[in-house]
Amino acid sequence: MNDLRPISLAGVPDSRPLLIAGPCSAETPEQLLATARGLAAHGVRIFRAGLWKPRTKPGGFEGVGAEGLPWMRRVREQTGMYLATEVASREHVAAALGAGVDLLWIGARTSANPFAVQEIADALAGCDVPVLVKNPVSPDLELWIGAIERLYNAGLRRIAAVHRGFTSCDPSIYRNHPHWALPIELRRRLPALQLLCDPSHIGGRSELIAPLSQQAMDLGFDGLIVEAHRTPAEAWSDSRQQITPDELARIVASLVLRDGAGESEDLALFRSRIDRLDGELIGMLARRMEVSRSIARYKRAHNIPVLQSDRYEEMLAVRASEGERLGMHRRFIELVLQAIHEESIRQQFEVLERDGE
Ligand code: PEP
Ligand code: MN
Repeated sequence: MNDLRPISLAGVPDSRPLLIAGPCSAETPEQLLATARGLAAHGVRIFRAGLWKPRTKPGGFEGVGAEGLPWMRRVREQTGMYLATEVASREHVAAALGAGVDLLWIGARTSANPFAVQEIADALAGCDVPVLVKNPVSPDLELWIGAIERLYNAGLRRIAAVHRGFTSCDPSIYRNHPHWALPIELRRRLPALQLLCDPSHIGGRSELIAPLSQQAMDLGFDGLIVEAHRTPAEAWSDSRQQITPDELARIVASLVLRDGAGESEDLALFRSRIDRLDGELIGMLARRMEVSRSIARYKRAHNIPVLQSDRYEEMLAVRASEGERLGMHRRFIELVLQAIHEESIRQQFEVLERDGE
């Protein structure tokens, strides 16, 4: 997919961050227009609003639907902004394109469903409309790439990915855990693909939007899609995470864009240190595996089972505390040790299965 193109829209500067903003949901014509005017006054050129709202549970506000399309058109007439909305079915695509919506996005619940994505891709075949693909709710990179591929195969080239965080059962300050490693890997796999961050849905709280936006810029994201509302406290959906147009302008103005050209010698030095340490880590792991294999031979000779969970639990607790004392997250140490343990068990089984070693 090397010939993917940026979603560039005439008259919208292609400097970072590409900014898309607007309310979670279109609620009333007045709310839409007042919010859009506030954003346009700060130079925002692309306006988002959800018309069809996929809700986790029935009974919540499910959006105004096609009734909001003329309200969106009014926003364009009054402010000159480009319009963006979410589509989840072929009917949504037909209605949005029919009304002249400039940019579509596929939401996280939809991109998790290949049938729905294929239906949307089929409905879009032959169009050159830009489409944003939000990551699926689960941290599944292949599913995310699969959704992008379906659009690509339908002939679309102006595609961008939106990182909006992932459902996680681990407690955290986020509504949806960022798992930054996933969008970073997506960038490595599809370097031509524009990458935007949705700090509103990751954070779930207005005060997290500024730090998350900065992190996204530091990680080289191309743009941001942010939920903004004229009166966030009164929003009919996602009210905790919405900010006013003025707050958004302040956040964007405060972003530090580290676009330093060229690589300094200092940076090259740091990188070579990291490379050396990584090499040492791999060498150390190999030595550790060699000890595991010796243990397996001993266990085989003495008829001891491979897994002794007491010993493992104890080792995990001691190391996690040690790691914490050295400034690392407990959870991080646990994950590393779990991965090492898994490989160690695999190697022990290999020894047991091989007779006469
Ligand atoms: C939204 O953008 O309002 C939305 C529903 O987002 P997501 O699909 O990321 O939950
Ligand atoms: Mn929302």
